[in-house]
Amino acid sequence: MTSPEAKMAAGVVGWPVAHSLSPTLHGAWIAALKLDATYSAFALPPDDAGAMLRSLPASGLRGVNVTVPHKELALSIADIVSPTAERIGAANLLTVDASGRIVADNTDARGFLDGLVRAGGDATGTAVLLGAGGAARAVIAALADAGCREIRLVNRTADKAKALARLAEELGLKASVHEPAGASAACAGARLLVNATSLGMKGAGPLEIPDLSRLAPGAAVYDLVYVPRETQLLKAARGRGLKAIEGLDMLIGQARPSFRAFFGADPPDAVDARSLLENARPANTPAPWPAR
Ligand code: NAP
Repeated sequence: MTSPEAKMAAGVVGWPVAHSLSPTLHGAWIAALKLDATYSAFALPPDDAGAMLRSLPASGLRGVNVTVPHKELALSIADIVSPTAERIGAANLLTVDASGRIVADNTDARGFLDGLVRAGGDATGTAVLLGAGGAARAVIAALADAGCREIRLVNRTADKAKALARLAEELGLKASVHEPAGASAACAGARLLVNATSLGMKGAGPLEIPDLSRLAPGAAVYDLVYVPRETQLLKAARGRGLKAIEGLDMLIGQARPSFRAFFGADPPDAVDARSLLENARPANTPAPWPAR
């Protein structure tokens, strides 16, 4: 919870926001480092979110993480936008600089790469990306940075996939667009398959799993969905002896640079973030927005 007495305060904004695991994670890091700091959840209704975010410099907060559906809005209200956020077209991190300006950044791409590198995944060849929403944009930026050469985009709405293909080409990747029915064929010889749709998530529809035997031997399968932690896609990947990378890895990976940006300290290794989040039951009672 926000404590007005705390020296450093930050949080996460979204609508809804009660489900967010970020307060659990940042809270554990704060406690382990014994920082005089708080990290709270703030519910920002879409109609008021723009005005509320613009009031960030007056709020006393050092910054906020931004979750669905406000990531594009966050980018649009910032005074300064990092090249990464500009490229992705969305911001998941807003901070206030010494001059009181709002700075937008995006750590989702770094978080994605963090998970990939930790699992020993290979992004240098051909990748198949399921989905064309905001998370998929961050994945494309990350893959371009990691030396990926070709990306095959599979999405229900072809126009959204085409827009992402243009982004991928601007970033120097060879890109092609495929219908969901062509997902298995798109997997042929690929070293990485990423699910960036909401399918497979608790409460959403099931993901139709492509034929994983078409992937290159030793390929990695990365599911951005993290509820449940072990999705049907990851189960199928493990069953085939492929590397299975959980969405929790990206969640933790995007939180690390945010924590540094808010509190000027590295998250402590002593906290086992994966175990913490695996067992966490988020029940954030949103704090009142502290704009003065
Ligand atoms: P988004 O912008 O709303 O995009 C959703 C994507 O899922 C779109 O490609 C959409 O296809 C597809 N989709 C949704 N329902 C579908 C259905 N019934 N049939 C076929 N396709 C469907 O969401 P997002 O922000 O990109 O997030 C996508 C997923 O990534 C979510 O599960 C989110 O929780 C997860 N995520 C995880 C992390 C992490 O740290 N692990 C970070 C960010 C996001 P259309 O284009 O056809 O609508």
